[in-house]
Amino acid sequence: MWRGAVGRLLRGGGAGSPRAASGLAGAQLRRRLESELEDIRGAGTWKSERIIASRQGPHLRLEGGGAGILNFCANNYLGLSSHPEVIRASVEALEKFGAGLSSVRFICGTQSIHKDLEEKIARFHQREDAILYASCFDANAGIFEALLTPEDAVLSDELNHASIIDGIRLCKANKYRYKHMDMQDLEAKLQDAQKHRLRLVATDGAFSMDGDIAPLREICQLAQKYDALVFIDECHATGFLGPNGRGTDELLGVMDKVTIVNSTLGKALGGAAGGYTTGPKPLIDLLRQRSRPYLFSNSLPPAVVGCASKALDLLMESNAIAQSMAAKTQRFRSKMTAAGFTISGKDHPICPVMLGDARLAAVMAEDMLNRGIYVIGFSYPVVPKGKARIRVQISAVHSDEDIDRCVDAFTEVGRKHGALP
Ligand code: PLP
Repeated sequence: MWRGAVGRLLRGGGAGSPRAASGLAGAQLRRRLESELEDIRGAGTWKSERIIASRQGPHLRLEGGGAGILNFCANNYLGLSSHPEVIRASVEALEKFGAGLSSVRFICGTQSIHKDLEEKIARFHQREDAILYASCFDANAGIFEALLTPEDAVLSDELNHASIIDGIRLCKANKYRYKHMDMQDLEAKLQDAQKHRLRLVATDGAFSMDGDIAPLREICQLAQKYDALVFIDECHATGFLGPNGRGTDELLGVMDKVTIVNSTLGKALGGAAGGYTTGPKPLIDLLRQRSRPYLFSNSLPPAVVGCASKALDLLMESNAIAQSMAAKTQRFRSKMTAAGFTISGKDHPICPVMLGDARLAAVMAEDMLNRGIYVIGFSYPVVPKGKARIRVQISAVHSDEDIDRCVDAFTEVGRKHGALP
């Protein structure tokens, strides 16, 4: 067997040379893929990736020369991705607990640090228990199918994140989609869903394309009226929204009314990777038994657990970092508005600069980079037609000077391209 494999390797041109699929099927596949890729390019929706040659942070070096680039497009809301204590905790966990578990949790993949982190997450969110996943995408993929049956119903905001949409697709519950943050429509759908055994309203706490915050008070009131449960995805809220950074439910005073919280460790909480569900203990117990992305995927690596654990410690000690981010957000939003731009959302570090025209958003983002400011333009189909924008994300580690430089560059570029008079 080995001799055959070595022979094939040699015939293929030696180790490291790429293998093309051979035969008619291989050629057909290649033609089909190339034509699909061409369609993506033709539609103008090709996503290219810039290569960063430094740590994640407010100041970046890009491969190919760009140094001293000001970064305004990471979800590094609190600047913890490169925080010295977070990095140290990660290195310590790596040395003490090894590179990885080579196992899923229930076989031999649970270490004391995984249990400690789950306990810490539950305490942070003031919930009974928590369960870790490799990502929040997995947490969202795993919860609906495990929890809901064909007897139940799920009511989902139409602009929910792709991972919630995919998670809901995987479950067999009856599906209702209500108009974005439209409480009249949610109420009508809840009335319709009374015939089902259990109703779960699912919403992003904060929506990442618009920086707008779900009306959780109203959602919880409706949930109470129609005997429903509330699920929130807090990826763009955990660590910094609310007086103590607990999230949208804390900000809106409904921590005791939201039953299930899913969130990520890959944004404000150190930015490495990982996700979780936190909520009632029997739900978490059930997820450990039934949730497929949890059962059939490797445990989080110790270094990643170490990062998130330290990030939570820092946030539980003080809310100073979150407050500093809020002040920077306020500075950016008010200066941009004074300059004549329309910024969507309110008080959130996601600050979409609304431009309308897709081409304008693309050329302005490119011109911003020419001035050393890294921001990204979004257009259809990522956002609705005619609502193209440049999304700016503020971090606690931006200085006031960084923010002012960004506003000045926007003003210059906006005038040049006719977005400002
Ligand atoms: N939910 C929301 C609202 C997100 O923005 C994201 C990431 O972009 C996810 C879930 C997925 O999180 P993760 O990166 O941990 O898979």
